[in-house]
Amino acid sequence: MERPLDDDVWRRFSALQERRPGGFAIAALMRPPAEGENEERWLERAREARGRAPFGLHTHWTAPDHARPTGGDPAALVREQGRWLDSMGLRPTFFCGGGWYIDEGVAGMVADLGYADCTATAFRPGYLEPGAPHLQLEEPAWLELGDGRRLLEVPTTHSIGMLARGVLGPFGRQIVHAYFHDTDLLDRRRAAALRFGLRFLGLKRTAKDLDELQLGLRPEKTMSFANRRA
Ligand SMILES: [Zn+2]
Repeated sequence: MERPLDDDVWRRFSALQERRPGGFAIAALMRPPAEGENEERWLERAREARGRAPFGLHTHWTAPDHARPTGGDPAALVREQGRWLDSMGLRPTFFCGGGWYIDEGVAGMVADLGYADCTATAFRPGYLEPGAPHLQLEEPAWLELGDGRRLLEVPTTHSIGMLARGVLGPFGRQIVHAYFHDTDLLDRRRAAALRFGLRFLGLKRTAKDLDELQLGLRPEKTMSFANRRA
């Protein structure tokens, strides 16, 4: 969720969570309020979202409209936001780095906070510069962090377009985990493609929410974080 404080975006996202297309509980991984944004209203909406489906942290390091970090210590902001959410009684269970950014420090912090991660993607996001940090993974795995710690990685496998195209062919993987941005719901065609894709997926596969999935996961694969950076 990029813009939960936008009333129109929030109304559409809430309606979708309530409707549960395909029987899916739609997790809300929310960007915490930036300076000057209404914290009280944000908390109110986060509590509502959390009451309906799994809840997670989505960090934008630079600005509401600039997700990836441009300097400083990316892990420090994740710690600050995680502690703030805890202090407000909102315990996230998942993390997703803005702009699909994750590094070893961030991964360690996410593990320390006790969250699972879904920043890895099964595809390479088209907008990333060659060499930009990104974690590519096909299936859930444990990521060894090199100091005895490990992080449960539940990769994101489908965009709205990939989900909609999956309608025409088999979903060739064990777990389908689709993502979208709350702002996509402002686009009538994208919103319709998402609802249609989820309903079709629900007919083909067993619906689980991220928390149920996490509890039941026993990934066979363990891999070193350092070696997975693509
Ligand atoms: Zn974002």
